Parts: sequence; C-alpha cells; structure tokens
Amino acid sequence: MKFICDAMLGKLAKYLRILGLDAEYASNPAILDRYKGEAEPPYFLTKRLKGITYPKAVFIKSDRPRDQLLEVKEIIRPFINREKIMNRCIECNVELADICKSDIEQYVPEFVFHQYSLFRICPQCRKVYWEGSHAVHMGDLIREIMET
Ligand SMILES: [Zn+2]
Repeated sequence: MKFICDAMLGKLAKYLRILGLDAEYASNPAILDRYKGEAEPPYFLTKRLKGITYPKAVFIKSDRPRDQLLEVKEIIRPFINREKIMNRCIECNVELADICKSDIEQYVPEFVFHQYSLFRICPQCRKVYWEGSHAVHMGDLIREIMET
C-alpha cells in the first residue's frame, strides 16, 4: 500500500518511511490523478479539508508529527512489516541496500564505524544508515503504534 502525504505533512511522510511504508510526499494533490482507476489506490493523508474529492483521503487534525502518526495508527498498522522497519531512506522513500562495512568507512563518523557492524545504503542518494541512525526514541514510537 502506498501513502501520499500532502505539502503540510513532510515530517509525517518521514515517520512512515521509518516504519518501512511507501510514503510519497506530494506538494501538488494533482498527483492523485495518476492513481485513478487503480485496484488499490494509495491513501492520501492531508490537512486540507476543502476541495479534496479523492475517495481515500484521510484528514489529519494534529500539527505535531508524532500525534499525526498516532492519528493514522489504525490505518497503517496492517501494512507495517516488522522486517521492513527502518529499511527505507528517509529522504528518498527508496528501500536500502546492504553494503560491506569496509566500503563505507569514509562516509560515516569514526565512532559509528567502530561501534556498529551492519550498514545499509540508499541506492539513490548514497546516504549510509546504521542501527540507530534513523531516529532516537523511534523504538518507543514503534511499540506505541504496533501494540496499543
Ligand atoms: Zn536516499
């Protein structure tokens, strides 16, 4: 399932990517025309109430990204695959690829290189990720989404 976040929800899109979900950020809702007639059209998460005729639009009330994420908890939960959590580039919405530790030494801070052994890279922007690099406190948030 794909999720499309409107221009006001850039941070929410990043949270969804951390959870492994395919979350596109769309500054123009006209992008939704692309999905008309599809068997499984994406959800459109939006802060705009007026002028939205898209059937799978979800209105987001909160201005705080964490609360926004909790608002869509019930919708997103069935699509979260635990093995895919933190397996997507926060910036590009692309799935990460495994990379050898020896290939990334010059791209990460020295303490990170020595402290971690598993690294992954975004095939698009070449950003290197390691365990814990996505966001601090994400563990609590994931538990909140998955278990309550
Ligand atoms: Zn990237």
